[in-house]
Amino acid sequence: MKTVAIIGGGPAGAMAAERLARGGVRVTLFEEKPGWEKPCGGALTARVLRRYSFLTAVAPEARYVREAQFAGAKGVLATFRLRQPVAIYSRAKLNRALLGRAAEAGAEIVEDRIVSLARAGAGWRLEGRRQLCQADFVLLAAGARSRLRVSLAGDLQPRDFMHTFGYYVPGQDERLRVAFFDDFEGYAWAFPRTDHLSIGVCGRVGDSGMPELRARLQGFVNRFGYRTDGAPVYAHLLPALTAESWSNLRLAGPQWALAGDIAGLVDPVTGEGVYYAMRSGELLAESLLEGSPASYPQRIWQDFGSELVCAARLRALFYRTDFLGSPISTHMIRFSSRSQAVLGLLQDLIEGTQAYSNLPTRIYGRVAASLVEIAANSLGAELPYPRSAES
Ligand SMILES: Cc1cc2nc3c(=O)[nH]c(=O)nc-3n(C[C@H](O)[C@H](O)[C@H](O)COP(=O)(O)OP(=O)(O)OC[C@H]3O[C@@H](n4cnc5c(N)ncnc54)[C@H](O)[C@@H]3O)c2cc1C
Repeated sequence: MKTVAIIGGGPAGAMAAERLARGGVRVTLFEEKPGWEKPCGGALTARVLRRYSFLTAVAPEARYVREAQFAGAKGVLATFRLRQPVAIYSRAKLNRALLGRAAEAGAEIVEDRIVSLARAGAGWRLEGRRQLCQADFVLLAAGARSRLRVSLAGDLQPRDFMHTFGYYVPGQDERLRVAFFDDFEGYAWAFPRTDHLSIGVCGRVGDSGMPELRARLQGFVNRFGYRTDGAPVYAHLLPALTAESWSNLRLAGPQWALAGDIAGLVDPVTGEGVYYAMRSGELLAESLLEGSPASYPQRIWQDFGSELVCAARLRALFYRTDFLGSPISTHMIRFSSRSQAVLGLLQDLIEGTQAYSNLPTRIYGRVAASLVEIAANSLGAELPYPRSAES
């Protein structure tokens, strides 16, 4: 592998470029808007910060949030401290930092939009708005909206996406907030950054249209008193693959691969994608550097793919299952104020340390355990943990 062209300079492309360049590969990365404020919550869990500990040094301007408030359906509310902070980034700052690392490692960063790619001998010919490029291998890391994947890997289905809508609201806050709705696959959020908040809502394409999403977000904004007048607005697609789509997913072929959002590598329950973008870029680089590009899909599957399929199967359980009259997320929020076991489960989910493969066992086990705790509490027994603030 002599030359690799990467289309897209978000977390997936930048990470792959940095790792490949460090490994001695000649890399050209094309990004049409280097370091832009890509529509995003910008929340990185403790798991991401542990794996990519360089982030705190190269992109120190994150807000580290230690308090979370979760709102369920029917007005249920729980506020609690996080054991490990969530870092919330402006995506412009994060993207710039990751691209800076790639450039420092020796990758060439070209500001250009690639408009087409075609086979040229054993490699590729890329046509940008400003220049042409030849490469032995091409990595598509152009994000959820890009159509470049269609000729190589086919298209994803509308059901494989959530649409999102939100605002960047000036101001500061010390707590992150997430609100669920009754029988709705999606949620609203308010994630405070250093000098503004990213406030938004997501819902599955096909289930809800933009007017409904906007109305849900307006309800959230009104309930918690955010001021969105004149605030910049954003909208974007967020992949949320179904389990069926995973079984047909093509991540690589002869001299090409997909990473990050364009591949659909996002947690379909939480919408977390930055970690999977960075990790897929890294795994692709490892495959190429070890001379086995064909091993990339297997590496994805073993590293996190099988977990994301579990998540896809659990979506309905999390958002829709009608368990004692409410979605399970609402029960978890309600019980978290009275049961340390349920609170621990919520904290693990936010910190990114709860595996989906054993989530159902833990949810049902904890709900049962919490009923016992709550019964003990109502009989006057002391619970061996601090209660959370509100319910
Ligand atoms: C509203 C919203 C909120 C989110 N919140 C979170 C969150 O809080 N935490 C989290 O972990 N994830 C979140 N995500 C998901 C996260 O934003 C993505 O998973 C992540 O950005 C994917 O990285 P990527 O590198 O694959 O793609 P992107 O970050 O989309 O980067 C792709 C890049 O390719 C460039 N590009 C596209 N086409 C071309 C072309 N033809 N030529 C050159 N360049 C091109 C684009 O300009 C872009 O910079 C959110 C997503 C949305 C939509």
